[in-house]
Amino acid sequence: MNPLLEIFSQGEELVTGQIVDTNAAWLSQQVVDCGFTVTRHTAVGDNMLGLVALLVDIAQRADCCICTGGLGPTSDDLTAMAVAEAFDLPLTFDAQAYEQIARFFANRYREMPDSNRKQAMLPQGAERIDNHWGTAPGFSLKYGRCWFVFLPGVPMEMKHLFQEQILPSLSQRFALRPGSLITFKTFGLGESALQELINSIKIPSLVQLGFRAGIDDVHIKLLFPTDYPNQELVTLIAEFSDLLGDFVFAIDGLGVATGDLVYEIDKQMTARNTTLAVIETLSHGLLAAKCIGCDWLLSAIYEPSSIKLDADIDVMVVAESLAYKHKKKSAADYVMVQLYVGNKECLHSKEKSIELYIVLLTDTGLHKISHSIAGPIQRKQNQAALLSLDLLRRYLNANL
Ligand code: ATP
Ligand code: MG
Repeated sequence: MNPLLEIFSQGEELVTGQIVDTNAAWLSQQVVDCGFTVTRHTAVGDNMLGLVALLVDIAQRADCCICTGGLGPTSDDLTAMAVAEAFDLPLTFDAQAYEQIARFFANRYREMPDSNRKQAMLPQGAERIDNHWGTAPGFSLKYGRCWFVFLPGVPMEMKHLFQEQILPSLSQRFALRPGSLITFKTFGLGESALQELINSIKIPSLVQLGFRAGIDDVHIKLLFPTDYPNQELVTLIAEFSDLLGDFVFAIDGLGVATGDLVYEIDKQMTARNTTLAVIETLSHGLLAAKCIGCDWLLSAIYEPSSIKLDADIDVMVVAESLAYKHKKKSAADYVMVQLYVGNKECLHSKEKSIELYIVLLTDTGLHKISHSIAGPIQRKQNQAALLSLDLLRRYLNANL
């Protein structure tokens, strides 16, 4: 059985809904990947009795607990005091922690307020977790069956301390046997259409299937338990790959680093040493913005023009001739042109859709798609950028 882990977040801002508990979500993903079973997330406000009671309970029911927040210098930061009370471990002055906090201020030419001395008071016997990213040191200690880790609440500090100091020691403290998580990253279909595509696959009860719909893509996740037979895992992944086809732009969990759509295109364009010039219309410059840092995007021109609804012309033919014209002027290997049909009212109306035409001219000829896009203007802009990039991705994967 996997060791049981709880995540506990401290702060009034969390329970009153002023901030969202992103620390717990991020930590959960990290520890699940390591092979823990996460049994609970709890958030407690600035309430001493509540904190003490929770710590005592967790010490009896979990093997590991990661707590974030409440380590600051102010009177609402109660974590160390609550630990001292719950486990009867008096707070003691840690000279090294004090010296590090003083140095943090000295390096910034700031005077250290007296209140920061509080952060150098750690429960007796706790192991200090040095924090070079902020003032509050973390600490860890074992109580009952549970190893407790207390980290600062500021997400950037918390993530650094977890990755640098906690993660490496988890496999020494716990017998961890992580399962395998395979993620199909898809573009072009919504969750329900993807579900339809894979309906015919018989998924063994030991394997967990999950969907995560983001703004730009939809992820399909398969979580295999520890020691799942490799041949069966490979077969199931192949079945998914077959049915999902070229809607999949990357598969995570197979030992190759993957990223978003632009990351995957960047890998291929860089490997082929190929360049692209773009004329964007409906994406309003967003295509270029998504490709920041990609040297293969030689130029991106934003043309605000659209084609009027009543125009009696073949828009794709216009887009093609624009692509050929632009190719003559541009030094890029490939040229992409977007055109859309619709007036200003269609663009701004959530209900009305816009017809988008995209042409990609490459050394093997013309590749084109048209697509109807509905929703608020920001969605139309984003979808136009993504559909254009996806046409390039599909071409590069030779799936056209
Ligand atoms: P500080 O020295 O800043 O007081 P701290 O360890 O006491 O550090 P908190 O005071 O609890 O941490 O939180 C500091 C800030 O970090 C919060 O104002 C909030 O912006 C962010 N934060 C804290 N906890 C979380 C959380 N669980 N999820 C996301 N953000 C958080
Ligand atoms: Mg604080």
